[in-house]
Amino acid sequence: MSEATQSDLHRLPVRLVPGVGPQKAEHLAALGIGTVGDLLEYFPFRYEDYRLKPLEEARDGEKITVAASVFAEPTLQRYGRNKTRMTCRMLVDRVLITTVWFNRHFLRDRLTPGTDIVVTGKWDARRLQLTVSQAEFAGAQQSARSGTLQPVYSVGGEVTQGWLRKVILAALDRFGEQVAEVLPEELLGKHKLLSRKEAIRIVHRPQDGEEGRVQEGKRRMAYEELFYFQLKLLAYKQLVKQRTEGSAKQLDREKVRGFVRGLPFRLTSAQKQVIADILDDLESPHCMNRLLQGDVGSGKTVVAATALFAVVTAGYQGALMAPTEILAEQHARSLARLFEPYGLQIGLLTGSMTERQKREILSALQMGLIDIAIGTHALIQDNVYYRNLGLVVTDEQHRFGVQQRSILRRKGLAPDVLTMTATPIPRTLAITAFGDMDVSSLREMPKGRKPIQTFWVKKDKLERVWGFIRKEVDAGRQAYVICPLIEESEKLDVQNAIDLHAQLSVYFADQAVGLLHGRLPSDEKDRVMQLFHQGECAILVSTTVIEVGVDVPNATVMVIYDADRFGLSQLHQLRGRVGRGEHASTCILVADPKSESGRERMQAMTETTDGFEIARRDLEMRGPGDFFGTKQSGLPEFRFSDIVQDYELLEQAREDAASLVRSKMFWTDAAYAGLRDYLRREQIFQGDLLD
Ligand code: ADP
Ligand code: MG
Repeated sequence: MSEATQSDLHRLPVRLVPGVGPQKAEHLAALGIGTVGDLLEYFPFRYEDYRLKPLEEARDGEKITVAASVFAEPTLQRYGRNKTRMTCRMLVDRVLITTVWFNRHFLRDRLTPGTDIVVTGKWDARRLQLTVSQAEFAGAQQSARSGTLQPVYSVGGEVTQGWLRKVILAALDRFGEQVAEVLPEELLGKHKLLSRKEAIRIVHRPQDGEEGRVQEGKRRMAYEELFYFQLKLLAYKQLVKQRTEGSAKQLDREKVRGFVRGLPFRLTSAQKQVIADILDDLESPHCMNRLLQGDVGSGKTVVAATALFAVVTAGYQGALMAPTEILAEQHARSLARLFEPYGLQIGLLTGSMTERQKREILSALQMGLIDIAIGTHALIQDNVYYRNLGLVVTDEQHRFGVQQRSILRRKGLAPDVLTMTATPIPRTLAITAFGDMDVSSLREMPKGRKPIQTFWVKKDKLERVWGFIRKEVDAGRQAYVICPLIEESEKLDVQNAIDLHAQLSVYFADQAVGLLHGRLPSDEKDRVMQLFHQGECAILVSTTVIEVGVDVPNATVMVIYDADRFGLSQLHQLRGRVGRGEHASTCILVADPKSESGRERMQAMTETTDGFEIARRDLEMRGPGDFFGTKQSGLPEFRFSDIVQDYELLEQAREDAASLVRSKMFWTDAAYAGLRDYLRREQIFQGDLLD
């Protein structure tokens, strides 16, 4: 009896629960509840507390539950149409209080002196008065509430709280005993987890004295969820490792060393280490699936360039995908410079090229005339064919996901994959969203970087900000001015940028002031960016299109307007556009934040420039869902757990899953048949269907 029985409850339609007819079943379906299993796993999000409270501990205005005995006959007043107000004196311990009941006159006859009763309501400490919202007579059979904590479920549509409670209790009565264990015995013991059956019972129906254990029930389910997810990721990772469908590339290590020696700077030891790992991966017969994370400016691009160069020495093509055209073009320029001496051919492919340009690139790719393709997502569309694609690098948090990989597989390609993230990712997120990958980190900045000073100023200090920019520009430096971000309206963003550009063009009449935003045609964007790169334009007004990746080492000032509208990681990204060269740089946040969180973000930015620390705080403030800012983050939706709050549990689950998939027993022993079945259902064993 293991998994099989468990999934049985997920096979039984919810109609089998007493009290659920066809129509009610439909209402439940609207809440995503289709089976008995779903119903039992529909957990309350909070509890009403009906634990008895000594009167002297009750605060004024608090909702409390007390045990009382009726002291005198109630008195009844009628008012309005059909409205009643009944008062009744009761003894609680030795204190005489007044209970007030609205529209409950039908209870009058039961409130006879001496009757024991438990009442819940709002406490008025000054008048010793309780306005009753709920009452329970002693000895009543089958009261509506069971236990002293009453679960509160999220309901909606046609489903009411009271009815759902009743139905869940009915399901527990009828099927509760059939809830089977799905975790290995030794893990239950190791973490002192409740059995699945007990956990589900206790969460829905805590008994008197079990209040503390409700958390235990939730913890057990959270662990189970995290463990299963990690098991899936790690089993997949393990199997991919064993699979040898990748190609063992015969790199020309001597040439690669020559390339590295020819770079305009010496690699940091972190860069060297990561490159060594990647080269090993490329030479192995397994498909590489590696995540490279590093703070802004830690030098990820050159790592990618070296890897791309290496696959070319083995006779393969490489592709570099960037999230924006601006970034793709920048990469094309800088890689062309690096690769030129070696005669490598680079092809740029973006969505906004003319059909004719595209066609030319596409055929060159197919014929193998291009060694390195650089572009946006256009690179892996269905109509793109490679002669011999050996490595795909995705820059700046463009996760190379399930779909893309299977597109390539369908073309008969199984390239090595290197994903580079824009910002450091807190570990809890990394092992969840990228848990199936090998992770490398660049924790060291190139030598000689000067720390960026960050200031937060109010909007009435703008004159001084402009003055500061003038000083830097006069000294030959360049500045970015980022426009406020208006939620969900690119059009307004653009208008902002245009207005600000007009103002600054007047203020800095003697300077070239550039303008960049998403609505510009792409050759215009390219031109503006080029001018800025070449230093022919001193000040660049931009929307957040330059947020990621842009690299102009001579720029030393970053001004961010209405900075409180941006998230922490995004601010850190923007700030990372400066501090990339030999000159000291400054970031100025212009903001009058209205919210506490806005102030906190400004504070955090002025306190630290460490991307790992910023990421940690950002996650804390925003929660995992918002951290990546997109739905396609690769983060699953967890029902019982929160990877931020439950991070310790997550670490444990990951460790447990890791040591299981490493053990031989796991793959052979009957005790783990249930877990293996789960992996089979999730198609972990069917290479190509899964990614
Ligand atoms: P990111 O990791 O943010 O993508 P980049 O790869 O754009 O950073 O590198 C930032 C800047 O640092 C670039 O101008 C790059 O040429 C330079 N750089 C990279 N590695 C080194 C190094 N080892 N020493 C000095 N400068 C370096
Ligand atoms: Mg970069």
